[in-house]
Amino acid sequence: MMSQYLGLKADFPDTLLLYRMGDFYEVFYDDARKCHALLDITITTRGQSAGQPVVMAGVPVHSLESYLAKLIKLGEAVAIAEQVGEVGASKGPVERKVVRVVTPGTITDTELLADKQDAVLLAVSGSGRRHGLAWLSLTQGEIGLAECSDLELPAWLARLSPAEVLVNREQQPTGVMKARFPVTNRPSWQFDAALGQRKLCEQLAVASLQGFNAHELTLAHAAGSALLAFAEHTQGRALAHVRSLRVQRASDLLDLPPATQRNLELVQTLRGESSPTLFSLLDSCKSGMGSRTLRQWLLHPKRDRAEAISRHNAIAALQTEGFEPLREALKSVSDVERISARIALRQVRPRELTGLRATLQVLPQLRAVTPAALRDASLTPPADILELLERAIALEPAILTRDGGVIADGFDAELDELRGIQQNCDGFLLDLETRERTRTGIANLRVQFNRVHGFYIEVTQGQVDKVPMDYQRRQTLKNAERYITPELKAFEDKALSANERALAREKLLYEQVIDALITRLEPLTALGRTLAALDALAALAERAVTLNWCRPEFVSQPCLEIAAGRHPVVQARLAETGGTEFMPNDCKLDARTRLLVITGPNMGGKSTFMRQIALIALLAAIGSYVPATSCRLGPMDAIHTRIGAADDLANAQSTFMLEMTEGAAILHSATDQSLVLMDEIGRGTSTFDGLALASAIASHLHDKTRAFTLFATHYFELTEFPAKHAQAQNWHVSAVESGEDIVFLHELQPGPASRSYGVQVARLAGMPASLVRQARATLEALEARQNAEDDQFDLFAAPPAPPPLPEPSGLVAALDGIDPDALSPREALEALYRLKKIA
Ligand code: ADP
Repeated sequence: MMSQYLGLKADFPDTLLLYRMGDFYEVFYDDARKCHALLDITITTRGQSAGQPVVMAGVPVHSLESYLAKLIKLGEAVAIAEQVGEVGASKGPVERKVVRVVTPGTITDTELLADKQDAVLLAVSGSGRRHGLAWLSLTQGEIGLAECSDLELPAWLARLSPAEVLVNREQQPTGVMKARFPVTNRPSWQFDAALGQRKLCEQLAVASLQGFNAHELTLAHAAGSALLAFAEHTQGRALAHVRSLRVQRASDLLDLPPATQRNLELVQTLRGESSPTLFSLLDSCKSGMGSRTLRQWLLHPKRDRAEAISRHNAIAALQTEGFEPLREALKSVSDVERISARIALRQVRPRELTGLRATLQVLPQLRAVTPAALRDASLTPPADILELLERAIALEPAILTRDGGVIADGFDAELDELRGIQQNCDGFLLDLETRERTRTGIANLRVQFNRVHGFYIEVTQGQVDKVPMDYQRRQTLKNAERYITPELKAFEDKALSANERALAREKLLYEQVIDALITRLEPLTALGRTLAALDALAALAERAVTLNWCRPEFVSQPCLEIAAGRHPVVQARLAETGGTEFMPNDCKLDARTRLLVITGPNMGGKSTFMRQIALIALLAAIGSYVPATSCRLGPMDAIHTRIGAADDLANAQSTFMLEMTEGAAILHSATDQSLVLMDEIGRGTSTFDGLALASAIASHLHDKTRAFTLFATHYFELTEFPAKHAQAQNWHVSAVESGEDIVFLHELQPGPASRSYGVQVARLAGMPASLVRQARATLEALEARQNAEDDQFDLFAAPPAPPPLPEPSGLVAALDGIDPDALSPREALEALYRLKKIA
């Protein structure tokens, strides 16, 4: 047996191998030690192999899923070897085979997957400046392809947020290795462009990739080759449900760099929690697939507005025709998307099929409450699917097929007959009992069954002498004897074999049902997508009504005009705590006003304002309504943010270095169609340095980039910027002093802030009174000195001209007269002597 184990293990050196032995999955040697450390399960040693004690540990079969979940979460890959041969069919151990490999990026078990997030498997090829990307979520069934530069790679990784990244063992791309995603090394030959193109064509059942506009993406083909090979390898079969391909180009998407995703807290808070975020606020979906779709929309906004506009139309239709009945109907919908994928992978469980059946049963009702404009043809799948499920699958099937009771009565004559034998059992036994009681005169004789001993006739010790000759003793208990008779034995054989045959028959029938469903994958997948999109749209419609949002309007000229905009997450938090009302604010940027310098006290609402503008622009782009009373938007290609978050300690970058790196990235990539948020840039260094850099950056954004820029700063000096820059304006968040205190109004008003109120804020924060007094005195002294000096130097003046060059010296004049290319070696030597003399 150990040699069988070692043979299997040799194929999976980097993977934990779970080896089925009866009711346990066993792990051996290093795998056992690893499981001991990761799962805290007990290690034992047993017997010897090659003269060494065998170190092993095991998990019970019935709790496999929970152990798998833990291992996958820890980033481990697990191979599962099952017994496939029949026990006792041949000499030696039962035949075993690795039937599936579970890795973080290829899990399909509904229990192991997060409900609201897809597990994306990504392969990255290329290592130099350009990369090919190919990705797939096995439970969704669409392949994505893209190519990008080294610089763009982090944004792609952040957007896709893969559960596992496949890289070429011999050419690991540094960008991937730096990001913190689980990486799996694959052999170099699997990253082959020609092989990839062939595999992709085979998978999609097409002759060329031209139809997808993907025929020239050779780097992506190489990644696709590794992706498909790995996905098939882990599933142990071809991927029948993967039939579509999408090529994504960064230029089609509204660019959301990792910093933006982080700073805007789209799907994760700065602390790494999943709520409160924009997504947690938006996601009132009724199904996991709806949530996943919405999340996908949020992280992949398109530059082109056609899709967003059609979603706006859908929301409007849902609002006029009412979305509550639809949402109610969506409640009873199962995760059709994942169930169809699991049908394709032949992993679908009986209860998932009943879920699918229930969904198909409510479809007519769901269709009836769907606005006509959204009633897609896919909501009417072929009737034979439901018919099959109704006929074939029991009303409430067992959880696992191996327990039987999955196939409905009346579906298969042979199964019914086998079941009949089992059911007749009870009648037969009662009958036998009565007959034997009469025959033997033992009134308390009983015919019974247990799992270990099978059927028996039980007679209490006092009556044993009445037992007839044909009774054979099976077992002796303290108070009773148990017997078997030839008649009972014959019955037992028939009953037990009927049971076994029924189970085998059920298994076969179940496989046939899956076969039939696989021929219907396409309508099922389409149905899943439509239901998911309907759920996401209905959620957006509900949010828009509940939170009082408005439909945004797209225009073609540069424009970002928002009336009474709110930060949806901050507003929701304020509403929850029942504190102050959120103060709505307007914003108007256009060809004439491209940059706002925003000043005002700390805690005044500057960051909130800037973020709300970005969130509104993003919401509009994904096709949602927005938290405002009106909103007009021109074309937009990216949202860049530089916001002073916590130090990135893990990366050991200083605040200032990080600030400048992020700032530089923005200056390099922003265009006149980008929205740029700059919060307190220059904070990480000394005042003068910081001020100088901040004003230079503002000038660059204003003069060269010409992006729509919101520039919040604590450098009061920057309020002079608009006076010298035609397309810039001063705005400030208002605050009023009342006595020694300060009250924030959070209202954005034109003009610069009058002062910074730092001392008052410190007082509010509970600094000791004596300290506040001292600070106030120091501040007054400083301000007095500043006024006295008042040597207003101009921050934004053009840099001084370089000093005039001095008259050329004799040496320089002589050097000027030499043309090195025209000199022979000898002349050069002479020239050198001459120069030496002049010096
Ligand atoms: P700043 O960036 O100026 O330091 P913030 O934007 O961080 O200030 O805002 C500080 C706090 O003020 C927020 O946490 C929020 O609770 C509150 N706040 C901000 N803007 C508003 C607003 N428009 N209405 C109500 N409260 C607000």
